[in-house]
Amino acid sequence: MTMPEINREIRLAARPEAEPQPEHFELVQTPVPEPGPGELLVHNLWMSVDPYMRGRMSDRPSYVPPFQIGQPLQGGAVGEVMRGEGFVPGTLVLHNLGWREYAVVPAKHALPIDPDLAPPQAYLGVLGMPGLTAYVGLLDIGALREGDVVFISAAAGAVGSLAGQIANARGHRVIGSAGSVEKVAYLRDELGFDAAFSYRDGPIAASLAKAAPDGIDLYFDNVGGDHLEAALGALRLRGRVAMCGAISFYNSATATGPRNLSLAIGKRLTLRGFIVSDHQDRRADFLAEVGELLREGTVTARETVVEGIERAPEAFIGLLRGDNVGKMLVELA
Ligand code: NDP
Repeated sequence: MTMPEINREIRLAARPEAEPQPEHFELVQTPVPEPGPGELLVHNLWMSVDPYMRGRMSDRPSYVPPFQIGQPLQGGAVGEVMRGEGFVPGTLVLHNLGWREYAVVPAKHALPIDPDLAPPQAYLGVLGMPGLTAYVGLLDIGALREGDVVFISAAAGAVGSLAGQIANARGHRVIGSAGSVEKVAYLRDELGFDAAFSYRDGPIAASLAKAAPDGIDLYFDNVGGDHLEAALGALRLRGRVAMCGAISFYNSATATGPRNLSLAIGKRLTLRGFIVSDHQDRRADFLAEVGELLREGTVTARETVVEGIERAPEAFIGLLRGDNVGKMLVELA
């Protein structure tokens, strides 16, 4: 394997107050780093951009520390091991040092992946962190039960599209919302959702009432705000909300809460938040079940691919704006 000399990486240049802009990122060339004992040099082939990275661009307390100005960003990546004890060169690994072309990864944080089961980038999407989020959110946090009518927001994205397909495969009535007519058609025609609507077409509560005239039992919340308010109104007795994300206010300093939260009392609702990294014990079950659904074609996983490390900020900004269908990825090599 010929050793490259130049690495390119994306660093945080400034912290955005609202929507991130290209000037909040900086593309920098560095020498390819040298691995030390217990470390691997990995050539990144794919990297992920994910909504949670917006939170890490701000300097505020959270479950993950903020990115630092002048330092490369971080996040899921799949790459090929070039050098490092205990790994055959060419082994494909999943790790958390994306946003750069070459990474020095502690060997204990590099997870070998099986490229025979799915293409490498699937481990950043349907078979990776977003996939596990959909699985745990729907089955464990949302406690999906027989006969549940399920509503999913950001349904055409990485997490939402898998959550909907798993619920569909288990025979549930599934309703999705998304931000365009093209995405609505994708949900209904390609993914088999029973109903779908664009939240830009009118009040969400009215669209949801039309799609689920008898109400819903489980809301998989990726959006928060007015989506959560509409879902609280539609939930039936003892309904559940899997609180996964609140992307409608990731770019704003203030959040709008649901005005009807007190409905949770009379309806005996359960609203439960979760962070996927607490649920690694479910990874084996998830890979077995979703791997099989993928193999048999019951589940499909679209990707929106942007090419080149220099375009990673564009991919990330586009993800927050809804430019993606399925998983938003950056192909690096
Ligand atoms: P997606 O692939 O769903 O991409 C984000 C999507 O959000 C966009 O495509 C866009 O689609 C939608 N969106 C953006 N702004 C708004 C808005 N104002 N109102 C409604 N929809 C909006 O991302 P992921 O699948 O990776 O993540 C989905 C959610 O899951 C996010 O909230 C994320 O933070 C959360 N998450 C939570 C985890 C956890 O551990 N709890 C782990 C992973 C993800 P559209 O065109 O439809 O608007």
